Amino acid sequence: MESLIQDTIESRVQSVLAKIRSAAERAGRPTGTVRLVAATKTVGIEQIAEGVRAGLSILGENRVQEALTKIPVFNRGPVQWHFIGQLQRRKVRSVVGMFDLIHSVDSPELAQEIDRRAGDAGQQQDVLLEVNIGNEPTKAGFLPDDVPQIVSGLASLSHICIKGLMAIPPPTADPDSARPYFRKLSELAKMIDAQHLPSVKMEELSMGMSNDYEVAIEEGATLVRVGTAIFGARHV
Ligand SMILES: *Cc1c(COP(=O)(O)O)cnc(C)c1O
Repeated sequence: MESLIQDTIESRVQSVLAKIRSAAERAGRPTGTVRLVAATKTVGIEQIAEGVRAGLSILGENRVQEALTKIPVFNRGPVQWHFIGQLQRRKVRSVVGMFDLIHSVDSPELAQEIDRRAGDAGQQQDVLLEVNIGNEPTKAGFLPDDVPQIVSGLASLSHICIKGLMAIPPPTADPDSARPYFRKLSELAKMIDAQHLPSVKMEELSMGMSNDYEVAIEEGATLVRVGTAIFGARHV
């Protein structure tokens, strides 16, 4: 069916924000408990700017080099930048302090390096731990069973603040098939909170992308990372 509704970045941002609000409502969660992170990898400055004018306030980048060329174009004030991609240890020095939140801490060594570099810079870096929630052999992230112990091992690092968990479930065509994985991540966060570690509070669950963010919200997501539904299909 041909749609007469304008298909622009602005209209897509508004539509995603509206769907976020209704999913939160369905789940009986107050609006404002779910934040949209626009995944901007490969997206140009002009399109990002259009998205920001339409109401995006958190931008998520995957690649350090790309992020470092984009961040200075926007004033940090109106937007937050999050790092959502795989982070190599040797790049940590250039990202500490540039991002309000790093979603993708996937090894104890990476956490330690962030802690060390943040300490050198006299800063505290907020991070999430990435969990390989489907136990997929090729995917980055901590195995679910290991996370409670990993968190207690990292809790003593004084220059990182562990704010929660992030996951990318195994890809499926049907968004509802991701639900058990989202639920599992949410339960894992509750288990960790029950450990009552000093300085660890599971405030954030980063889960849900373009085709399943509404399901993720129903299962407790506080941060959804959406690219394609806002900027269209990526060509690179
Ligand atoms: C690209 C990306 C997203 C967004 O994916 P879409 O399917 O385009 O919404 C979310 N999270 C991460 C880590 C990504 O790399």
